[in-house]
Amino acid sequence: MISIDSISKWYGPVQVLKDCTTQVTKGEVVVVCGPSGSGKSTLIKTVNALEPIQKGSITVDGIGVQAKGTNLPKLRSRVGMVFQHFELFPHLSITDNLTLGQRKVLGRSNEDARTRGLKLLDRVGLSAHAHKYPGQLSGGQQQRVAIARALSMDPIVMLFDEPTSALDPEMVGEVLDVMVNLAREGMTMMVVTHEMGFARKVANRVVFMDRGEIVEDATKDDFFDKPRSDRAQTFLSKIL
Ligand code: ATP
Ligand code: MG
Repeated sequence: MISIDSISKWYGPVQVLKDCTTQVTKGEVVVVCGPSGSGKSTLIKTVNALEPIQKGSITVDGIGVQAKGTNLPKLRSRVGMVFQHFELFPHLSITDNLTLGQRKVLGRSNEDARTRGLKLLDRVGLSAHAHKYPGQLSGGQQQRVAIARALSMDPIVMLFDEPTSALDPEMVGEVLDVMVNLAREGMTMMVVTHEMGFARKVANRVVFMDRGEIVEDATKDDFFDKPRSDRAQTFLSKIL
């Protein structure tokens, strides 16, 4: 589904991704972790071309992300992305947040978009809040709406960049529950997170990054039970 092949990226003279290679196959959940500044956000953003790369190649569902002639808006509409900060449109109601992209990008009718949006709102447990504005919801609720909004576009893969790290602790669980359900339903997911409980529950593989490199790319059990590198062992000893 996602194939990242020997990619490198520089910001000016500083190399922030070093020859990174990994894949996410259909239905797989891959957790990306590593110290601050190791390149996790940069890596995940390259997948829908939010960050350009200077070397290597990436394909999503067989489509070259950097290839000339690739319809990036179309590709991005199929790659759901949820960030640390919820980034809902503050001036739009929850319903309008859920329907705007469907209408503008996918060309769905008001009615179809609304039906789909409200169904997803129900799925994240927020049916009662359809008429409200983002500012009237808690952080955890807003993040669940952000996930529903991404799902409303019928993505073939979902990317998450630390979706719970800006939340108050008591709200982390409700967002992770939605993500766990999504994973169990078979969604292909690439998730930057330090929530190792989530990783243990649903990840198929863990990618560990340090200083721009993919240092480990292992099955969940191998990563937690016998990390090969000193760097991953040190990282795990700090966060577990
Ligand atoms: P964190 O855990 O803090 O979110 P991260 O692993 O997501 O960190 P990135 O945000 O991908 O790390 O950053 C990787 C490196 O790229 C860091 O050294 C960072 O300082 C650098 N970097 C990120 N964005 C830019 C930018 N726009 N210009 C220059 N350097 C940048
Ligand atoms: Mg980051």
